[in-house]
Amino acid sequence: MSNLSEINLIFPVESNLKTEIAVIGSGPGGAITACLLAEAGREVLLIEEGANLPLESCQPFSVEEMVQKYRNGGLNAAFGQPKIQYVEGRCVGGGSEINSGLYHRTPPDLLEQWRTEFEVDTLTEHDLIPHFEACEQAVNVCYLPGKAPTASLKLQEGATALGWQSLEVPRWFCYQETQENTVPKGTRQSMTKTFIPRALKAGCKLLANTRIQTLKQTNQQWILTGNYQRYPIQIQAETVFVCCGAIQTPALLRRSGIKNNIGNSLRMHPTVKIIAQFNEEINALDMGVPVHQVKEFAPRFSFGCSISSPPYLSVAMTDHPQYTNIVEKYWQNMAIYYAMITGEGSGTVRNIPFFHDPLVRYHLTSQDLKDLSEALQKLALLLFEAKAKVLYPSISNHSPLTHPQDLTKIAEQLPVKQTNLMTVHVFSSCPMGENLKKCAVNSFGKVHGFNNLYIADASLLCTAPGVNPQGSIMAIARRNVLKFLNKI
Ligand SMILES: Cc1cc2nc3c(=O)[nH]c(=O)nc-3n(C[C@H](O)[C@H](O)[C@H](O)COP(=O)(O)OP(=O)(O)OC[C@H]3O[C@@H](n4cnc5c(N)ncnc54)[C@H](O)[C@@H]3O)c2cc1C
Repeated sequence: MSNLSEINLIFPVESNLKTEIAVIGSGPGGAITACLLAEAGREVLLIEEGANLPLESCQPFSVEEMVQKYRNGGLNAAFGQPKIQYVEGRCVGGGSEINSGLYHRTPPDLLEQWRTEFEVDTLTEHDLIPHFEACEQAVNVCYLPGKAPTASLKLQEGATALGWQSLEVPRWFCYQETQENTVPKGTRQSMTKTFIPRALKAGCKLLANTRIQTLKQTNQQWILTGNYQRYPIQIQAETVFVCCGAIQTPALLRRSGIKNNIGNSLRMHPTVKIIAQFNEEINALDMGVPVHQVKEFAPRFSFGCSISSPPYLSVAMTDHPQYTNIVEKYWQNMAIYYAMITGEGSGTVRNIPFFHDPLVRYHLTSQDLKDLSEALQKLALLLFEAKAKVLYPSISNHSPLTHPQDLTKIAEQLPVKQTNLMTVHVFSSCPMGENLKKCAVNSFGKVHGFNNLYIADASLLCTAPGVNPQGSIMAIARRNVLKFLNKI
């Protein structure tokens, strides 16, 4: 059963649809864009490749969630030395339905760099504050009202012992009333809980299970061709917002022959992990989302704690096959920590004839590999300070670390063949700005050289933000759609 109303298409009679504005992709970028357009009285059709499922259709962070709501069940790789596994949402609400909800505003010095290097107009912190504030209110960004998970507090403990800066990161979440000393529960304020119901209430129509294959402009109209489930479909729109995320947006545009500065500058936050085992219990089935991060070395690298349920621990332990049995026995004493670099490498998104998914390539520089190594060493040091007993880095068959002296065993440049990197943060594949050598779209998301064609998603971020990106994506989407509506 779907939780949101959806257009019922009757084939073949309604296989040709017409709308004033088509928004393709319903993640944070698309949902906010569709909502504000509909609330301004515009005729909007929100089109989504994935299914329209309630947030509650599965347990958060379960294997079932991966099957229902992740693209390819979460198995995607950016090819390079080493390759980087990345994940994306594929459902109504996009990544917001599956993510941890950790919120940051865009760092002001980064906005200044985007202004000078990419020539983005009116994007200072001052310009963005109204958009940050409106989005924070709409998705209820707030701090934990009770106790943080013990595994999360371990980060704070280690950082404090070393005199490093750590912080609790707020989340978009509605917490239930809670008793002292218990980890609060509640509901993630994803797009299906916030902007999408608002959009539908304002008259926006939603078409789920529909993948747009190509766009073509004829006589001032855009023709979108794709499939609703297995039926071919054509949609006519005067204006199109492409909001398919940092991988699928360039893939769709390039399939449509729109290629200038599209898909050439993909950035991500390459991330390396450590499974830490402690003497005491730090994990529980209802642990919730860890909320602490260590920003002492930001923007070069940051640390955090990941979801550490037994299935996640088992998957993470596959780098150390001879120790996988300890997860079953000691999972309550174990948690997964990560070190994420901002990095200077970049990647490309290209389509391959007859293949459904694009080929994603990512090049890490030797400095990136050094940063990853230094970040891993510092994270390990922090975890030992927090009284970890054994550390298992995400380097295949690397010997477990049992003492701070073992940190010297971590190579200065991580070995490309054994290191297992991943990321949940991808962006910058169609950067915004007036610098025509680098940018795919102008300062407000309009594709350079095309009329009535816009991008509104993670692709626009000029470079890797060094912080969780959804706060930046939401604020920039809001700013750009209000500019389109002549409201700023
Ligand atoms: C597991 C996980 C945890 C994360 N944790 C955090 C966090 O704590 N904090 C944070 O800030 N960020 C987090 N992120 C990142 C954040 O979710 C993304 O940056 C954000 O969702 C990107 O928004 P978007 O609008 O660019 O695209 P997406 O959210 O990727 O949405 C794009 C949508 O477009 C649809 N689509 C794609 N192609 C087509 C097509 N051809 N036709 C129709 N529809 C299409 C997709 O199915 C998808 O639903 C996390 C991500 C993941 C995966």
